[in-house]
Amino acid sequence: MPCFNESEVIEAFHTALLSAVEPTRQSFEVCYVDDGSSDGTRSLLRGIADVDPRVRYTAFSRNFGKEAALLAGLRMARGRAVVMMDADLQHPPELLPRMFELHRQGFDQVVARRDRAGEGVVRATLSRAYYRLVRHCMEVDVLDGSGDFRLLSRRAVESVLSLPESNRFSKGIFSWIGFDTVNVAYHNCERAAGTSKWGSRRLLNYGIDGLVSFNSRPLRLAIHTGLWVVLSAVAYALWTVAKVALYGASVPGYATLLTAVVALSGIQLVTLGVIGEYVGRIYHETKKRPHYLIRETDRSSPTGRSPTTAPAHAVAAASRVPAGTRRVVRQFLLFVTIGFVNTAVYLAVYMSLNRWLPYLAAHVLGYAVSVVGSFLLNTYITLRARPTWQAFVRYPVSSLAGLVVAGGLLYLAVGHLGMDKNVAALAAGVLVTPLSFLLARWAITSGARAAREGHRGEHRGELGQPVDESEAV
Ligand code: UDP
Ligand code: MG
Repeated sequence: MPCFNESEVIEAFHTALLSAVEPTRQSFEVCYVDDGSSDGTRSLLRGIADVDPRVRYTAFSRNFGKEAALLAGLRMARGRAVVMMDADLQHPPELLPRMFELHRQGFDQVVARRDRAGEGVVRATLSRAYYRLVRHCMEVDVLDGSGDFRLLSRRAVESVLSLPESNRFSKGIFSWIGFDTVNVAYHNCERAAGTSKWGSRRLLNYGIDGLVSFNSRPLRLAIHTGLWVVLSAVAYALWTVAKVALYGASVPGYATLLTAVVALSGIQLVTLGVIGEYVGRIYHETKKRPHYLIRETDRSSPTGRSPTTAPAHAVAAASRVPAGTRRVVRQFLLFVTIGFVNTAVYLAVYMSLNRWLPYLAAHVLGYAVSVVGSFLLNTYITLRARPTWQAFVRYPVSSLAGLVVAGGLLYLAVGHLGMDKNVAALAAGVLVTPLSFLLARWAITSGARAAREGHRGEHRGELGQPVDESEAV
């Protein structure tokens, strides 16, 4: 059910729908699509979906039009058969059992066709003329009064969804896919509440969509008209020449001239417009934009039910841990790994330099190498930031702070708690690691942030290759 500003009628519709479908003892789900309503339809749908697990809804980020809403509904629905209907009670739910019955008999499309009783004379006449024109022009057959109230079998739904075009004129698409189709007639009725969303302008545009979506005959028509006009111009010119030869030149006829000019420019404009329509459609198709954007669904709403089986929502379920927390955990694990790597680097440098240098000099050099190494690795890998001289200076200071805190803990553990000296050193090391991580992160990133915010010394003090700005923390 596509719903656009239907708050006045949606609850009545839902009640009527349930009382028509429940007695058939079919298993069913109700899929509402809120097409960017601004009148509280969305919260009403959320309320209905909250209390009834058979009800699902999707809400668009803005009004994308009924065609987009129908498409979203077809993508949502999981049933063996899918019925599309308006939410304003103009499509009577009482017809549904009969439509289910016809589907069981093997029809892939059951089309509810309304008569035009009770409709305004002008609108009814225009509609009838339009359908006659469409039937004349189109390669597909569209019947007067067969709106979007129809049942599609699963394979018909899959066929509709397999069409990739972005200009969707579903009346044409439904007819194009074919399969066994049957009509059910019903009486047209007034919408129960609210107002129609189809003003005359919107209807005219919808009409043009319909005509242009499904065929290239208007282009052909333009060529034919052009040819006829050229032929009659030639005939007119010949006649004028003959007249001048026989009777001599008379006073030039402005009226004839003007008429010809105006008629021709009119034809040219129409033809240009027709070509423009097609070019515009090609442009539109090449952009490959999505048909709609989703604001929320029954699963994503604040009060929504917990996810059940639908695979489309697996992503939402997988990311229940907030992204920020996951990022910090990942950074911390990298920090610890780099810590081990750097201890190994220190030992390697210390042990190899030992042979040629006094051992204290080897220690200082090994320590320096491992500090620079850990600074660069943590900057690039752990925090994906850009190294700066400020950060480089802050980094050893932050390690020093870690060292002091670890020493304090060690002193407490051994002096006051009487712990074994080795165990205490290990425990102090483990306990202080998160603090060292936070200090190192501060040392590396606070400079980066300041540099980015204030554009102070932007590229001054860079140590290495610049890292992509967007990657910087
Ligand atoms: N609708 C929609 N998006 C729109 C316009 C209409 O989803 O931009 C829905 C509307 O809520 C209703 C159905 O399409 O469920 C038919 O609309 P409406 O009753 O206004 O059309 P009418 O019956 O007058 O042709
Ligand atoms: Mg209506």
